[in-house]
Amino acid sequence: MSIDKIISLCKRRGFVFQSSEIYGGFGAVYDYGPLGTALKNNISQIWWQAMTQFHENIVGIDSGILMHPKIWEASGHVDAFNDPLVDCKQCKARYPADELFDGNPEDGEWNNIQCPKCGTTGNLTEPRQFNLMFKTHIGPVQKDANVAYLRPETAQGIYVNYLLTQNAMRLKIPFGIAQIGKAFRNEIIARNFIFRTREFEQLEMQYFVKPGNDDQSMRDWKDERIAFYSQLGIDSGKLRLQEHGADELAHYAKEAWDIEFEFP
Ligand SMILES: [Zn+2]
Repeated sequence: MSIDKIISLCKRRGFVFQSSEIYGGFGAVYDYGPLGTALKNNISQIWWQAMTQFHENIVGIDSGILMHPKIWEASGHVDAFNDPLVDCKQCKARYPADELFDGNPEDGEWNNIQCPKCGTTGNLTEPRQFNLMFKTHIGPVQKDANVAYLRPETAQGIYVNYLLTQNAMRLKIPFGIAQIGKAFRNEIIARNFIFRTREFEQLEMQYFVKPGNDDQSMRDWKDERIAFYSQLGIDSGKLRLQEHGADELAHYAKEAWDIEFEFP
């Protein structure tokens, strides 16, 4: 089945609509219709229950989308949460550098690479970093001192409330903090329906362990998460664990795994 058929089915049956469709649509933002909302809420509730009710040592919070801008400096997002981009001076097409060049973009011979869209060579710019966070201003005056960002992930709300939560709930390591909420990323090239959107919901749990217990904990959680998706009714033969390569790891990560689903 093609993705276009699925998009069309989702629309007809009231699962997912293109945002602002009557005004021509708004890129990479989607609205959930009546059935899509019910489905999404069901999954969120099952996840929340699995995390916070079936584990004695996992609690939930709900932090703000707007946070102190210093949080994003401290976390490295202001500097590091960005993609190198290349522009074609001829046709104005824009590409993530890694789409056109294998390896470190800084080593690329951009003058020798052909633009896939217009076919010219020698018109690609050097890669430039692009910050993926949505910027806004707090208060009525738009000046640099008032800059704030919409969170690009929910995790920071958990980290900055770690001590308050631990003290309030008298938690001892190991323990976890779970959160469901919206996150925002100003993706340069957003596509693939609801697989990559500029505004999306994250269901995230951060689990805190003593140094040295991280590897075992990672193994346990991988098993538990795979089991969760199977219990949801997903064919486990279509699920697999995929480890991030060294060049894919987030700037703060030692190890990372995706659970991948063979779609559709
Ligand atoms: Zn071009």
